[in-house]
Amino acid sequence: MYDLCIIGGGMAALSCAVTAARRGLKVIILEKNDKLGKKIYASGNGRCNITNHDFSYNYTRYYNSSSENYEEFLKTLFKSSYPDKEVIEFLNSIGIITYDIDSYVYPKSLQASSLMWALNDELINLKVEILFKSEIHKIDINDETYEINVSNRRITASNIVLACGGASYKKLGGTLSGYELAKTLNIDCTDISPALCGLKTIEDVSAVSGVRVRAVARLYCDNLDNSTKDNVCAVEEGELQITDYGLSGIMIFNLSSKAGKILKSGERAFVKLDFAPDVEDKVIYDIFNNHSYRKDRALLNLLINDKLAEFVVRRQKKENISYDISDIIKLLHNFIFEIKGLTGFDNAQVTAGGINLEEINPEDMSIKKHPGMYVAGEMTDIDGICGGYNLTYAIITGKRVGESI
Ligand SMILES: Cc1cc2nc3c(=O)[nH]c(=O)nc-3n(C[C@H](O)[C@H](O)[C@H](O)COP(=O)(O)OP(=O)(O)OC[C@H]3O[C@@H](n4cnc5c(N)ncnc54)[C@H](O)[C@@H]3O)c2cc1C
Repeated sequence: MYDLCIIGGGMAALSCAVTAARRGLKVIILEKNDKLGKKIYASGNGRCNITNHDFSYNYTRYYNSSSENYEEFLKTLFKSSYPDKEVIEFLNSIGIITYDIDSYVYPKSLQASSLMWALNDELINLKVEILFKSEIHKIDINDETYEINVSNRRITASNIVLACGGASYKKLGGTLSGYELAKTLNIDCTDISPALCGLKTIEDVSAVSGVRVRAVARLYCDNLDNSTKDNVCAVEEGELQITDYGLSGIMIFNLSSKAGKILKSGERAFVKLDFAPDVEDKVIYDIFNNHSYRKDRALLNLLINDKLAEFVVRRQKKENISYDISDIIKLLHNFIFEIKGLTGFDNAQVTAGGINLEEINPEDMSIKKHPGMYVAGEMTDIDGICGGYNLTYAIITGKRVGESI
């Protein structure tokens, strides 16, 4: 009989297992892959951006959810406005020291594999048992215990944790099976959609594929009945990457969760781009006026990539926008794309949606309707923006479970 059985072997499971086993609990991990933490190895382009010093008490800046009360949920879960400190303390406790690039935090080696090596050694040292190639589809609840049949064994545990992650990146373990398992236990899950992914535009942008430009992006939804209203849902600034299907780059990834929700609700989603956010209009007027002998595309190329300049000129003609400088400047600051969809789970770093927060006590991540059952990590209806916020959430939710059993 185990004190704790953890379904899944990602970051949430590992912080949970280490924390619980350090308290003397007998722990087993059941993982469907043939190794632990496949997503951790891939995170941060192999460097593992594990947390971020940019954390204020306004957690809605960093996380999304379909629950209205998720800010309160996160405040209770994190307990302080310094979740990054708690993550770094946990990392230090397994021997990992960290390295900051601006506010972004990485293992000092800049290798995700060093973190996994330390975690694997810690689990061995703490005698945590691990069964690989063990995908769980059914959990039996008998009196006060949980029972699972796997690999010709019957595992019995007094506590169980669902830490199956999300549906994104199938090749790294992404699967729907966690949500399906939760549903067999009568646990409500909200609709899921890809997040931290690119946005497909209705307009063909293949002519500007490969262009990178500094921009401010405003995501807004337009109720079809009220199409003149500018409903801004989120604003991001950074490097926009235009691809053959549409818009990409970290700034777009950070808008994708909200864009997915707008489209799911049946509304139209638009991204309005400012291609010259850091140049004063007066400066633009002056350079355009002083060089009015040059062609429109050449003038625009003083501010933006030449391919993009041509694209802007084409849009200007298509929409019969005048050659007046003020109109061109307006277009540069308000270049709108309608979004038709997201790039899909196989290219999404995380999954938005999941186990409904109403089902969970945020103090210890226990499932309200099943005493002794807990959930941790991406499986829940919380997703973070880029920058280490998802691994932070996985570590802290796992830790809360390990601390409270
Ligand atoms: C390419 C990529 C890069 C990323 N980069 C970053 C980054 O730099 N910083 C950051 O904060 N976040 C990053 N993320 C997101 C982050 O990796 C995840 O949010 C985090 O790893 C989620 O941890 P988890 O433990 O909840 O789930 P997972 O890591 O998905 O782990 C769940 C585990 O459960 C197993 N499993 C699922 N179902 C079952 C079942 N039924 N039975 C048994 N096992 C099961 C899976 O095989 C998997 O190993 C990235 C994600 C990807 C895909």
